[in-house]
Amino acid sequence: MTATRVLVLNSGSSSVKYQLLDMRDSARLAVGLVERIGESTSRLVHTPLAGDGERREHTGAIADHSAALKAVADELARDGLGLDSPELAAIGHRVVHGGLRFTEPTVITDEVLAEIERLVPVAPLHNPANITGIRTAQALRPDLPQIAVFDTAFHTTMPEPAARYAIDVKTADAHRIRRYGFHGTSHAYVSRTTAALLGKDPSEVNVIVLHLGNGASASAVRGGRCVDTSMGLTPLEGLVMGTRSGDIDPAVTFHLMRVAGMSADDVDVLLNKKSGLVGLCGDNDMREIRRRVDAGDERAALAFDIYVHRLKKYIGAYCAVLGRVDAIAFTAGVGENAAPVREAAIAGLEGLGPVVDAELNAVRSGEARLISPASARVAVAVVPTDEELEIARQSYELVKNMVNA
Ligand code: AMP
Repeated sequence: MTATRVLVLNSGSSSVKYQLLDMRDSARLAVGLVERIGESTSRLVHTPLAGDGERREHTGAIADHSAALKAVADELARDGLGLDSPELAAIGHRVVHGGLRFTEPTVITDEVLAEIERLVPVAPLHNPANITGIRTAQALRPDLPQIAVFDTAFHTTMPEPAARYAIDVKTADAHRIRRYGFHGTSHAYVSRTTAALLGKDPSEVNVIVLHLGNGASASAVRGGRCVDTSMGLTPLEGLVMGTRSGDIDPAVTFHLMRVAGMSADDVDVLLNKKSGLVGLCGDNDMREIRRRVDAGDERAALAFDIYVHRLKKYIGAYCAVLGRVDAIAFTAGVGENAAPVREAAIAGLEGLGPVVDAELNAVRSGEARLISPASARVAVAVVPTDEELEIARQSYELVKNMVNA
């Protein structure tokens, strides 16, 4: 196949992040983002990584996603990487919710798009933005395969006892209420990379992946297949996050509605946007929280301890789910950078097998690496996630197979 480039698009409600990769060697040719789409202060930041082009930044109104993608196309064209190039093989889209239907990367047809639309009620914040991104890209290159890579796909292997909530089955099925999980592309990439770090095939190892970004989720991966994950019907369940509460007694919701006169939407905003670290201490950036902890701030210290306590509970639970654990892998903004979080989350777990070596944990690096001593029964790893590469890889494989079929 002569076309070897893949454009990866991650479309949010007011932003588009993009990367152009060449899949011959997985090289990034350009990366960038458009933010505040629809406002007067929209901003496009474009960085060419091949050749000698320089980082470029533009501010000024970009009315909608269509205008944003046209602006991106113009920037790429300036670097000789135009989207009209015959070298472009596919556009890969991150799609947050694929329900149970989409277990694999999927070529987007009208029927697929309609199904992504049918899932809007369970992903009201994310799927509409993803759909807008897809439609815009289709209009720009109608001849090109557009591939959807779903955040939920990796978790569709979860067995029913892990995926089902213990609620009335008829109600659950009528409204497609079950645990879907998210960040799947990252969990897939990181669990596979962790196996490689151990010199093993993914089918041979059991891994707990801790994706700790502003959103955070844990997964239990047995032999390369996800068997449990901490996010559920929506990304609200599970770990303490930057602004989300994670696990909470569901009765808190109707208690607030009855006693505090809050509406369903009020509680939704409270739990998704005003809880987690920001709700506990006013900050959701782990760097700032650690600075405050080191300066003796008690609120920040309690927020940090609550965050770590929840992490430990999930590590313990997934040790039990997996029975045997070969490695625990930390990834995403907090997991890759915050050594104190890694140290605190693993401290005291020697009885379960994982140990962190303080010196290895303190090393700053962009490489996947082990931070446990060789003697540890369970390895501890830091693995920088790369969701864009994974989306590009999955999209390219699919298109290659179509051409060869
Ligand atoms: P992500 O969602 O993966 O981009 O992660 C973003 C989060 O990572 C931020 O909100 C910070 O809490 C955290 N983070 C990023 N860089 C660092 C760092 N150097 N040290 C500690 N936390 C960091």
